[in-house]
Amino acid sequence: MGTQTADVVIVGLGAVGSATIYQLAKFDLTVTGIDRFSPPHALGSTHGDTRITRRATGEGEEFVPLVSRSHEIWREIEAAAQTELFTACGCLILEADSIAGSSQHGAADFLNKTVAIAQNFEIEHEVISGDEIRSRFPQFHLNEEHRGYYEPEGGFVRPEAAVAAQLELARGHKGTLIQRNERAIRVDATSSGVTVQTDRAMYSAGQAVIAAGPWVGELAGSADISRLCTVYPQALHWFALDSWTESMTAAKMPAFVWAFGSAEGDMFYGFPAIDGPGGGLKVATEQHSSTGDPDEPDRVITAEDSLAMFDHYVAGRLPLRRSVVKAARCWYTMAPQSRFIIDRHPQHDNVLIASPCSGHGFKHSAAIGEALARLLAGAPPRINLLPFGIEYFPGVGRY
Ligand SMILES: Cc1cc2nc3c(=O)[nH]c(=O)nc-3n(C[C@H](O)[C@H](O)[C@H](O)COP(=O)(O)OP(=O)(O)OC[C@H]3O[C@@H](n4cnc5c(N)ncnc54)[C@H](O)[C@@H]3O)c2cc1C
Repeated sequence: MGTQTADVVIVGLGAVGSATIYQLAKFDLTVTGIDRFSPPHALGSTHGDTRITRRATGEGEEFVPLVSRSHEIWREIEAAAQTELFTACGCLILEADSIAGSSQHGAADFLNKTVAIAQNFEIEHEVISGDEIRSRFPQFHLNEEHRGYYEPEGGFVRPEAAVAAQLELARGHKGTLIQRNERAIRVDATSSGVTVQTDRAMYSAGQAVIAAGPWVGELAGSADISRLCTVYPQALHWFALDSWTESMTAAKMPAFVWAFGSAEGDMFYGFPAIDGPGGGLKVATEQHSSTGDPDEPDRVITAEDSLAMFDHYVAGRLPLRRSVVKAARCWYTMAPQSRFIIDRHPQHDNVLIASPCSGHGFKHSAAIGEALARLLAGAPPRINLLPFGIEYFPGVGRY
């Protein structure tokens, strides 16, 4: 196949790439999106049924405009695609008093920072005591004193459905081409344009976006980007419910993040049950000690892995049984201090790098797609992307 041309080529159609191609369809540009698999898929960072969203982002106030805009965009997509993406069942952050001031996602004193951000941005919220948590949310078995932050507008988004809906809406646009199961091998740029060589064809474009998730380091062709991105395998677990009651569904149970102990990693998070009596309830923790390769063939989470997670995190805290319904592996691409990299390539102004994971990127992805599309189309920015620039990281910058 010869060279194919478009105004923009997007490499990677996961959370960020699908949001970008959907938003670019609103501008009069020709766009080709390429993915090495067929998204939504379970091989990158955007699968496992649910992602937490909350507007008061203790990770930093620069994230608030992104998640707030994403909440609006998901409602727009739900209406356009006639699908359900965002369930505002509330989000509860729990912290044991014994570890008050603990860090999460690179932010010290995460709970108090979340509260301060909610106050600054006038985000509806409550700070609730352990006794209030026990009476309002009896699903959470607190065995010592806790404090909670409750955000009623928070909840969860369905990542696979969001990717599918955005790609489907983009596909309806006449200037958009979506190429699945096609792997980009290299992205080259000169001042006059960009070429993307895949295992099937060569594409040329005025601009490109590399939104390759855990593969961003390998594809960006920049030592700085690879140095900043570290990939960690994570495990998601679904456990059987003690009993099927409304209290375990989104009608009564919020999405939650629960910091309970002083050892590193003594935090887990979870969601209400969304798949009926047999579907179980999803919980997960995070690990930042063992890196991984997203191309590695051994992607299995064993029953022993899940049961060990249950014993340390879940037992005695939630009304779940020590019985695994299913499990999945998913990849965190971490930047230092759990930040994002959304910027022009260090050497090529016509290539954008969008690597917002660091374990909390999904809730921002819809607005990141919009911001990137506006940048590519030359439209005035609505959201300040400067805090996500490469120059934020000391020792790394444009040459
Ligand atoms: C276990 C887990 C839990 C999480 N929980 C939350 C949460 O509760 N809330 C939250 O906000 N965020 C959460 N996140 C983070 C969030 O899911 C990610 O930030 C987000 O999904 C990343 O999207 P992405 O588009 O960068 O990557 P991906 O969705 O992985 O997309 C990258 C795409 O690029 C494609 N690709 C890669 N290389 C090539 C190539 N050479 N050629 C063509 N295509 C290529 C891949 O096939 C893939 O489709 C979680 C992440 C994980 C892993």
